[in-house]
Amino acid sequence: MGEATSSLHIFNSLTGKKELLLPITENHIGMYVCGPTVYSNVHLGNCRTFISFDLIFRYLKHIGYSVRYVRNITDVGHLEFDEDDGEDRISKKARLDGIEPMEVVQRYTTDFHKILDAFNTLPPSIEPTATGHIVEQIEHVKKIIDRGFAYEINGSVYFDVIKFNNSTHRYGVLSGRKLEDMIHNTRKLSSQSEKKSPQDFALWKKAEPKHIMRWTSPWGDGFPGWHLECTTMSSKYLGEQFDIHGGGIDLKFPHHECEIAQAKALYDKSPVKTWIHTNMLTLNGRKMAKSTGNNILPSELFDGSNELLSKPFSADVVKFFMLQAHYRSVLDLSNDALEAAEKGYNRLLNGIKMIAKLPKSNESSVDINAAIQTFYDAMNDDFNSPVLIAELFETVKLIHRVNHGEEKLTAKDIDTLHKSIDGFIYDVLGLTLDASLNEDNALLDKALDVLIELRNEARASKDFTTSDRIRDSLFKKGIQLKDGKDGTGYILMS
Ligand code: AMP
Ligand code: ZN
Repeated sequence: MGEATSSLHIFNSLTGKKELLLPITENHIGMYVCGPTVYSNVHLGNCRTFISFDLIFRYLKHIGYSVRYVRNITDVGHLEFDEDDGEDRISKKARLDGIEPMEVVQRYTTDFHKILDAFNTLPPSIEPTATGHIVEQIEHVKKIIDRGFAYEINGSVYFDVIKFNNSTHRYGVLSGRKLEDMIHNTRKLSSQSEKKSPQDFALWKKAEPKHIMRWTSPWGDGFPGWHLECTTMSSKYLGEQFDIHGGGIDLKFPHHECEIAQAKALYDKSPVKTWIHTNMLTLNGRKMAKSTGNNILPSELFDGSNELLSKPFSADVVKFFMLQAHYRSVLDLSNDALEAAEKGYNRLLNGIKMIAKLPKSNESSVDINAAIQTFYDAMNDDFNSPVLIAELFETVKLIHRVNHGEEKLTAKDIDTLHKSIDGFIYDVLGLTLDASLNEDNALLDKALDVLIELRNEARASKDFTTSDRIRDSLFKKGIQLKDGKDGTGYILMS
């Protein structure tokens, strides 16, 4: 394991501090990340969270840890509006589309994998599904009842938050909320609710006769609660206590708070050493979300079909745009920001290509190890990818200076730098730097600029035969021109 390992600090949402990572088992890391609820296509906001954890997974491996990365698929139990009386999201989609719930699950799991592959993220070590762990979840519900922290009513089982909080445990340790305040601020339970207190949450829900996704249990036919799935799958594959648990910041409360309460009710110990919460991707300043319709699908960026965009952007450029922000900062998506990221990306790409052709000297005028150390320092400071990218740009400047004879590097130092840059670009940031693809895109941009200019000239001189011919011929070839207030762009129709 490299020297750098000993100084990795991570911001722990549980303590609100950056802490030195000290693995439970030497050289090993267990990491659980809440996966998607597969009832719709993943939007770009979801992708940001999974790209952030891919960066973390990649860096942990890069510095020598053996990592078991568990990322689940939620294929049952996540109810609408995260309410205990909402409809199951997957069942609802199956009902609306007139298909089997497992068809919904299959369709959107496939989409999820396809999109994450396009972003060149690594597959997790284990990708368990909630429906594949019903037996274990039933065992957990039984145990929580036996330990006095849950009650059964009308075929459903609820976690008793007040009883839990009156024991040696506290509810609210992650979110910093106090149970008394929560009780004070919530509306009274509706008369239909069977829960003892509004804060109680479902471990097991009774399935009404028309409910398709159902399993037999000691409490009758039903299905598991969303929070319980993650407790069951994380403890099964990573143990009662593990190193890292992650998810988007919107899952901190109630989902992760409930996970902590369940695990403490089961095992009497705090399940996770370091909680990592990633921040949101926004669009027009508002969180990208499926429910509000304020979202963009990755495919709309790849083919440029969204009206916000002037042109298509490659998956690598979109990923680079995301990595230029720290995972704990809010990031707003816009055409301008993507165009700026594309310029930066190309600059980095071109700079790095030069390294193979640098003149070699007998001695070096710069300390190459110090330059490389800045890459580690950036990532050891809570996975600070924007600083890492800034340091890579500094290195590009150095490459230019060496190329112009202003600085000198030996063949050995050039080789060391080359390997290190490749390691950070390909292994850690997970970029593909698909030069051919980007060169093709750049050439296409240039050729289309010429055609758009010719069309504008034809239109200006009222030669609509020519202007229409340019537009229609491109359309036949699968390129659609888009006239907007800032000029004409294009989309690629696949
Ligand atoms: P879901 O499928 O809704 O459970 O979400 C899957 C993951 O995407 C969760 O970790 C969410 O926190 C995350 N997520 C949802 N919306 C956004 C967003 N706008 N930006 C970043 N992550 C998000
Ligand atoms: Zn979860």
